[in-house]
Amino acid sequence: MRAELLTTSLLGLDREEINALVREAGEPSYRAQQIMDTVYRQRVGTLDEISTMPQEFRERLARSGVTVGAARVEKKFVSQDGTVRYLIAFADGQSVETVWMPEGDGGEAGDGSEAEDEVVSAGKNDSQSTQSAVKEMPSLRDSVPSLTASPGTAVPGFHMPPLTGLESGSSDRQLHPITSSSWAVEGDRAGRAALKGKRASSGRSTICVSSQVGCAVDCQFCLTALLGVKRNLTAGEIVGQVCAVLNDQKVSPPEDRINLVFMGMGEPFLNYENFMKAARLLVEAVGIAERRMTVSTAGIVPRIHDFGGEAIRPKLAISLNASNDALRTRLMPVNKKWSLEMLMAAARAYPLRPREWVTFEYVLLGGVNDEPENAKEAAELLRGLRCKVNLIALNPGPGIDFTTPGAERVAAFQKILREAGIPAFVRRPRGRDIYAACGQLKRTVEVATSPEPRLQSISPAPES
Ligand code: SF4
Repeated sequence: MRAELLTTSLLGLDREEINALVREAGEPSYRAQQIMDTVYRQRVGTLDEISTMPQEFRERLARSGVTVGAARVEKKFVSQDGTVRYLIAFADGQSVETVWMPEGDGGEAGDGSEAEDEVVSAGKNDSQSTQSAVKEMPSLRDSVPSLTASPGTAVPGFHMPPLTGLESGSSDRQLHPITSSSWAVEGDRAGRAALKGKRASSGRSTICVSSQVGCAVDCQFCLTALLGVKRNLTAGEIVGQVCAVLNDQKVSPPEDRINLVFMGMGEPFLNYENFMKAARLLVEAVGIAERRMTVSTAGIVPRIHDFGGEAIRPKLAISLNASNDALRTRLMPVNKKWSLEMLMAAARAYPLRPREWVTFEYVLLGGVNDEPENAKEAAELLRGLRCKVNLIALNPGPGIDFTTPGAERVAAFQKILREAGIPAFVRRPRGRDIYAACGQLKRTVEVATSPEPRLQSISPAPES
């Protein structure tokens, strides 16, 4: 076997690479399929478990330094609502977080196939307005037979990891905005099932996947930025997160309907080649349909253009978070390099497939980007685009210098977008009771209860 294959992980190799490995080992070509099946479909953890292959060949691989390269779950935290946060470790000691949401992500994912039936409205009983918003867009209406404003579903629907393990010695600031308490749902059915150790519902489960250790993009409301980027994940490490969670949850695509959102740690489009290879492996080898995957970018414009040309690609979500350049540059320095004009041009040029739309994520920061004027500006930016907007009210953690807008302000923002003909949905993150530990995850195994969000005391936005 070639030297470069002697110390490699099978996980992350594509069919062509596995074919080469088998060929150079002098084994019959069908061994490649055996490896693909066991590594990606059965998701074995060791060479010994590849029982379809002769022991002699397995031993030879092992002697050559070939491993399966499975990711290792180092820690696991279960929320009362059923969300599970995994700390997943790699061979070099680095780790990332991966999140399992047993009843989906509340409708984002940008996965239009089922997003809207999980949509939660900001108002008291807003199912009617949700319906009317969807009517604005035939592709949404066609794909959603029924809309319910049911509680208990949610996800951080923006490009920010739902939870993050910080390196020892890093800031205590909490990374993720958590849902406003008025939207918190605890102890739901999935949560109780999870806590009882039963197999969670896999009807519309979602895994939030990381693409880098840390992140270089420096969004001001995100603690991952404080880590800087430590390194890119390999394709095998990206796929390995998914395999580890599937194994732990005892679910298996395609029989179980699994959604993926690449919204964990890191900017996937700054690790583009590895991310794309992982996406292809997840589709072709693991068996998760590309329509069930969504990647979120902070706005790496050249890669948005590249991504549109990929033969296999997840759906696209863009983390917007501001309605004008000055504000966006303040919140997301990446905007200095790729302005809103460039970003929106890329979004308008993006080659949408039938029944597909671009999702824009907008984290609402009290008194910063949640004014009626911001909503009107955002509506103008998005006018004419086949898109929807996911609104997420920030729940600031310790040290985050932003506050959470009240539900009425969120509803007012949503209303303005909808009245402008833009489908807008309010998202509720899951697993809030296990979020507080994320800033200290690598220093302690304790799970703390997250603090109540500090609601902003700004009066409701006037009706427009
Ligand atoms: S792109 Fe921004 S929000 Fe996403 S992980 Fe990086 S710093 Fe956080």
